[in-house]
Amino acid sequence: MKSWDAVIVGGGPAGSSAAWRLTRGGASVLVLDKECFPRLKLCAGWVTPEVVRDLGIDPSSYPHRFLTFQRMHAHIKGLHLPLKVVQHSIRRFEFDAWLLERSGATVVQHTVRNIQREGGAYVIDGEFRGRYLIGAGGTRCPVYRTLFRDANPRSTQLQTVTLEHEFAYDWRDPDCHLWFFDKGLPGYSWYVPKAEGWLNVGVGGMAERMKRSGADIKYHWANLTSMLSRNLAKGAHYEPAGYSYYLRGNVEVARLEDAFITGDAAGLATRDMCEGIGPAVRSGFAAADAILHGTNYSLRSVTGASLGGGLASRLLDWAFTRGAGGGAAAPAAATA
Ligand SMILES: Cc1cc2nc3c(=O)[nH]c(=O)nc-3n(C[C@H](O)[C@H](O)[C@H](O)COP(=O)(O)OP(=O)(O)OC[C@H]3O[C@@H](n4cnc5c(N)ncnc54)[C@H](O)[C@@H]3O)c2cc1C
Repeated sequence: MKSWDAVIVGGGPAGSSAAWRLTRGGASVLVLDKECFPRLKLCAGWVTPEVVRDLGIDPSSYPHRFLTFQRMHAHIKGLHLPLKVVQHSIRRFEFDAWLLERSGATVVQHTVRNIQREGGAYVIDGEFRGRYLIGAGGTRCPVYRTLFRDANPRSTQLQTVTLEHEFAYDWRDPDCHLWFFDKGLPGYSWYVPKAEGWLNVGVGGMAERMKRSGADIKYHWANLTSMLSRNLAKGAHYEPAGYSYYLRGNVEVARLEDAFITGDAAGLATRDMCEGIGPAVRSGFAAADAILHGTNYSLRSVTGASLGGGLASRLLDWAFTRGAGGGAAAPAAATA
């Protein structure tokens, strides 16, 4: 059986960030992913300047579609707030494949099912052995399920549900639009243009509250697309797909012996904007640093708030999570 210093389950932003830092630190790294990259990843593909900086991306030499918004429009119950911003959009299938290739890790397409601890290492499905194990498999990560679920049960109050579609569209408005709380949505819907004539539109909200309200995600999707058909995306045809993930709660145990949990597997998306790429990247780096330097794995550097924790950030956090445990104001420290 072949051995690596670290085996990473999942090649999304959390896994590729951990892999990149580990290989640069001289470790041998295997990334196992059930998909063959480039793979579809449902995501609006909004990335912040912090993510671009953390990943050391030079937009002028990034080889795929990359768009910078100079303005963002927040719409809140009929109120329109145009905001001067610098934010970016990418297409996830390109972005993730590029990051994974750049990481320099060995990548094998494999669906992880079984994880055993044997002689101070982790053995995956009887085939792959790693001294360290990083769980970066998203919401349904098998490392979370096998090792971390009991210590970190997920709170249904923090679960989001989404529907989205990304498609070729000759958009006219190059700005990003967000509609908060429209027609009772406990979340927001979005219009995110991408470079070279692509567009992502979607709707996301807190699963439990949507269920209680009786208006499901399909109802909110119909509201969004009906509104878009009048102006921003006339004549568009949709084939929406959905995915669910968790906002930041208390992560009581983020490391168990030599196993780590990162990104959506740990439920780290921000509580004010449901942003998950940045927290995935930072947690991947933090796990790699703990392995390389023998330090504690801490999630302190992983933001729980996209908007900096100020008033707007706290109001959105409250509006989405109604004060569910853990959160942006008190980012969870991981146990070693
Ligand atoms: C509709 C939608 C819109 C979003 N929009 C944004 C946005 O605009 N900006 C933003 O910052 N965040 C956004 N998010 C959140 C963001 O997409 C996630 O938080 C982010 O992708 C988390 O990265 P990750 O690496 O932890 O997990 P993922 O990107 O989900 O990667 C996990 C990987 O693990 C693999 N895997 C899963 N199970 C197994 C297994 N058993 N064996 C092997 N491999 C496995 C998967 O194939 C996948 O490649 C959005 C999410 C959704 C659903």
